[in-house]
Amino acid sequence: GAALSQKFKELKGMGKKKKVAIVGGGLSGLACAKYLVDAGHEPIVLEGRDVLGGKVSAWQDKDGDWIETGLHIFFGAYPNMMNLFAELDIEDRLQWKVHKMIFAMQELPGEFTTFDFMKGIPAPLNFGLAILLNQKMLSLPEKLQTAPPLIPMLIEGQDFIDAQDELSVLDFMRKYGMPERINEEVFISMAKALDFIDPDKLSMTVVLTAMNRFLNETDGLQMAFLDGNQPDRLCAPMADHVKAGGGEVRMKARLKEFVLNDDGSVKCLKMTNGEEIVADEYVSAVPVDVMKRLLPKKWSNMPFFHQIQNLEGIPVINIHLWFDRKLQNVDHLCFSRSPLLSVYADMSTTCKEYYDEEKSMLELVFAPCSPLAGGNTNWIAKSNQEIVDATMKELERLFPLEIGPGSPDGVGAKLLKHAVVKTPRSVYAAIPGRNKYRPSQATPISNFTLAGDWTSQKFLGSMEGAVLGGKLAAEVVTDKAIYGGPTKGIKKIVPDVVKEANAM
Ligand code: FAD
Repeated sequence: GAALSQKFKELKGMGKKKKVAIVGGGLSGLACAKYLVDAGHEPIVLEGRDVLGGKVSAWQDKDGDWIETGLHIFFGAYPNMMNLFAELDIEDRLQWKVHKMIFAMQELPGEFTTFDFMKGIPAPLNFGLAILLNQKMLSLPEKLQTAPPLIPMLIEGQDFIDAQDELSVLDFMRKYGMPERINEEVFISMAKALDFIDPDKLSMTVVLTAMNRFLNETDGLQMAFLDGNQPDRLCAPMADHVKAGGGEVRMKARLKEFVLNDDGSVKCLKMTNGEEIVADEYVSAVPVDVMKRLLPKKWSNMPFFHQIQNLEGIPVINIHLWFDRKLQNVDHLCFSRSPLLSVYADMSTTCKEYYDEEKSMLELVFAPCSPLAGGNTNWIAKSNQEIVDATMKELERLFPLEIGPGSPDGVGAKLLKHAVVKTPRSVYAAIPGRNKYRPSQATPISNFTLAGDWTSQKFLGSMEGAVLGGKLAAEVVTDKAIYGGPTKGIKKIVPDVVKEANAM
């Protein structure tokens, strides 16, 4: 992380200054622009919506309350994100929580159990110890049976991890004889938190990648909440940095199509308002589903671009519930371990800007939301009221004394209002066998580069992955300006796709 940031600064002034048009003002597009400015180039970010941030965007309702696209957690093991905060001098905006993980107990409504990370114990021992010391989730024999299959990961590293991509989490567990209960106790909540998906659908590579990233750093799993809404607290400082460095950030600037030269390179961007934007270099930082739609015909049969047809976004729903009183006070993220929900937090406690001493505002991630992700119900197509009603039913188990018939007055906390945000296509669905189709940032098109959390980078579809994807795209553009081409080459063209394409 830090080394690449440094590289941009060192290369500033070398090579020709490039005007770079970046499509998409999510974290990846903004990060790309930020580092291009640092390297002395002139980016222009073109965001289609009237708000920056994409999947971290947020807006206010008529009462001034913030509605977020997603409940977002930052981890200690997000090196590029942490560098970014430091470089923008906004580190104080991360509200770090006590180093532990909190899980709702499945059979004991209202009770929680924790993995506690002890100070002074280095990784990965601190994680092993946190699990061993937890008496409520797994028995000792179960814990001991979990460890051996994970050892090759610590020894062989990324090669072993990548090789498990064809297996689902459940396949992997069965192959290595891990007890099924580990699935119920740990992997369901992990899979839903990592990719909004059930473990029988999720690639084992995702779980291993997360473990490898998180467990190798002592504070890797420590969590932070941003102190307020992401557009103001994170996107604005990124945009300000870009503008101060001579770049531009436009909103309500939506790409309609890439206009090509005869040789297949980009001639200009045709925007929906008819404007044509000409630049030296072009970067796409849109989600994979949008990229598939925008792909020019001329590119779509090239093996490099053809492979992205194998990727698609997974649906997820983010719910906000405002209550008339304060619920049980937990200043942290909770893993609900309930069938319909993933993680949740009481934002009136965890987040400075949403702080309220008297009333709770729960933000909850609803997953899985469609049969692609697990379960039989296509929740993403249901009405907001149906989704809220189902959520309230699950909350009766998580807050048995405060919500629903179990509470002292038989009714409990009153729901004042709700907001439901559906994202039908969010991060790429990390189902088995997908990782190999994630393309490099460098493409076979001379003046076109890819960014976005779904491009090839060693973090998953996450904020860290988005920032790293944008940073790697900025590196490709910077290297081209100096050396005439990317220094890292165009990788990840899958052999079977190449064969298929050559046969066409
Ligand atoms: P996006 O944020 O999707 O940005 C793409 C941008 O392109 C958007 O702003 C879009 O409007 C714009 N665009 C699209 N089409 C056009 C066009 N034609 N012209 C111009 N602009 C266009 N990650 C974590 O690390 N931790 C978490 O706890 C976490 N929780 C999440 C919870 C939810 C509910 C969701 C949905 C996501 C969560 N994520 C989390 C994932 C994280 O939000 C994403 O990985 C990341 O924000 C993706 O950034 P991006 O820039 O790659 O894509």
